[in-house]
Amino acid sequence: MHKRADDPFFTEMRNGVVTARSVPIASYRLGLSGVCDVVEFTASPDGVKLPNRDGLYLAAPVEYKRGKEKHDHSDETQLCAQAMCLEEMLSIAIPKGFLYYGETRHRVEIELTTELRDLVKDMADEMHNYFSRGYTPRVKPFKGCRSCSLADICLPELQGKAMTASKYIKQQIEREQ
Ligand code: SF4
Repeated sequence: MHKRADDPFFTEMRNGVVTARSVPIASYRLGLSGVCDVVEFTASPDGVKLPNRDGLYLAAPVEYKRGKEKHDHSDETQLCAQAMCLEEMLSIAIPKGFLYYGETRHRVEIELTTELRDLVKDMADEMHNYFSRGYTPRVKPFKGCRSCSLADICLPELQGKAMTASKYIKQQIEREQ
């Protein structure tokens, strides 16, 4: 599933929907960049012109997840950040996006609300604040780290071990006092 979503710049048209895969995105306002698994374009008067296509098309990001729906808002926030990047790049308003869960084979429509957008802005601000202070927040490894695409950069297990090591040293010092 994910392999196909990662085919660079693959596009196809099916049932009136133009599908673009592995789409590079960026927002100067948010200071974010990344790659959308899939962007679907459907005919709409509120959309944009696409190369070699007649009419106007409205974009909607589709994010593929291996697992099932989560109880937090992390997937929705990621999807909303993608939509906000696309909005800035294409100068359009994107009201919704989709999350596809491989484990349940379930596609969920996500309304990109003001609350979700505010959360994305707050998180981007927080991230830039950490960066400018040179501060790396400690992470607590959890089950989701195993399927996270950033795991190779984040190295959560190493951080977990580092925390265990520091706890161990603290314990040893306290014991010798
Ligand atoms: S690997 Fe890092 S970025 Fe990914 S979920 Fe775990 S803590 Fe978060």
